[in-house]
This record gives sequence, C-alpha cells and structure tokens, in this order.
Amino acid sequence: MIASKPTKAVISWCADVLASCAVLVLVISWINDIQSPNNRVLSESFLRNGFCLSPLFDDTHLSCSKFDALCGILCLITMIVTKKSSLGGVAAYFFSHSYGHWNAAVTLAEDGSPQEERTGATDLFVLAAILSIGPLNAASDLVKADKMSKSLGNICAFLGLAVGVSVYALFIKRPCYALLYINIFIILANSLPRSILVGYTSRQDMEIRASKFRWAKLVSGLVVLAVVFSEPFYCDSFVKFIGGHAVFDVVLALDLFVHFMFTFNDELLETQKEIETKME
Ligand SMILES: [Zn+2]
Repeated sequence: MIASKPTKAVISWCADVLASCAVLVLVISWINDIQSPNNRVLSESFLRNGFCLSPLFDDTHLSCSKFDALCGILCLITMIVTKKSSLGGVAAYFFSHSYGHWNAAVTLAEDGSPQEERTGATDLFVLAAILSIGPLNAASDLVKADKMSKSLGNICAFLGLAVGVSVYALFIKRPCYALLYINIFIILANSLPRSILVGYTSRQDMEIRASKFRWAKLVSGLVVLAVVFSEPFYCDSFVKFIGGHAVFDVVLALDLFVHFMFTFNDELLETQKEIETKME
C-alpha cells in the first residue's frame, strides 16, 4: 500500500498516541484493582497469577520457556550466519524471558498459584537490563529526531531507568507481575515521549516519521499492543482458551522477526548505495 509522507507521519503519530493511551488505561485499571479488590476490572485469574495461564498446556510457563529458549537459539544461529551483532541483544531478551518463565514454573505453589517471593538484588539487576530497552530506545529516537543532545539523551535514559526500577522495587515487588510491568514500562517509555515530542506537522518530524514507517512494522506493533492489553483484561473470557500468555510470546517473536527483516534490508540497501557512490 502506498501512502504519502504526511499520511505516514500522521498514522505513525496516531499509533504512538494509541499505545500510550492503551497502556495508561491498563495502569489505571491495575491500580484500581489493587485498591478496590471488590470492584475489579482485570481478569480474576490474571491478577492471581500475574499471567494468563491456558488449559491448552500442561504448564503454560514451561511451554513458553521452551519456545523462548528455541527463539533465542535461532537468534544466535542467525547472528553467526548474518554477522549482525544487534541480534545478540534480541537473543539475550529471549533467554531472560525464557528464564523468567522457567523460574515461575518451578516456584509455583502446590495449588498452582505463584509463591510470595522477595525480589533480590540479582532480580533487580536482570530487571534493569530488560527495562533499559525502553528508555535507551526512546532517547536514541529523540536524539536522532534532534529533540535533545546526546548527553541529555543519556541523562534522560538513565533517569527513566532509575524511575522504572524504583517503582518496581517500591510498589510492584511481586515477581509474578514483573512481565506485565516490563511490557507496560517499555511500551510507555517508547510511545509517550515520542507522541509528545515528535509531532507530524513540522517538515523535520514528518521526514523522521515517514522514513521509519513500514506497514508490516505498524501492523505487528499493533498486534503486540492488542495482546498486551487483552491478556490482563480478557484472560478469563477468551484469551486463556486460545493459548493465554503463549499468544504474547508468539506475537512478540513475530514482531521482532519483522523488525529484524526490515533493519537487515535497510542496512543492505545502505551498503549498496555506499558502494554505488564509491564507484561513480
Ligand atoms: Zn512470556
């Protein structure tokens, strides 16, 4: 589908605003459910487990753990074949996600509910490593869009990460809610600053948004957002019957695959252009 630059910029901005709003609605609902347990809006079983467990699997956590480990191994093999070092970060994400599921699977109480655990220093360190994806990405986007200097970007990314880890350590605490928190934090860190600071009217903002715009990326991003949103809200009504949390792991893997294909393709085109300019 072909769209003009202004149209692409508007669609990209709307997607950022939609992501910010959806995640804020989720945060407000989560706070509401903690404060008034008798008036809950999120799914009962999701709040109990921190995940949407599905009757389709003997153990949803274990199935997800195996799937993520397999994706991590595939990333490593692709990294070796294509020599794209950025895939190392994606592989690390899959392995840490797989570890999180494995850990959840082996620490479940007899009745299947998550055990009350204290978050240790190592857990916070792993959490900080995963959360950093959000503020680092956001800062790099804003620096590229000329909205701030590189040093200010680094300071903002560090402060954002400090806030993210502190909120978890002070208020969330329970490891079973870590993944929901990670998703909320990363999506919000990516979409909120961009929707406020990078508009679609000025020429520069329009160029930046249009140059990064890809229909496949937009669709896969929206699918991930829809799944992140549906898992806590509709776990008991339908999500658990179509695979529960496993749906999230699958759509996230597809999203990362789409993202990698476009980055790989863009880099190939750039190298080709460089060779052509040198030959002229
Ligand atoms: Zn998962």
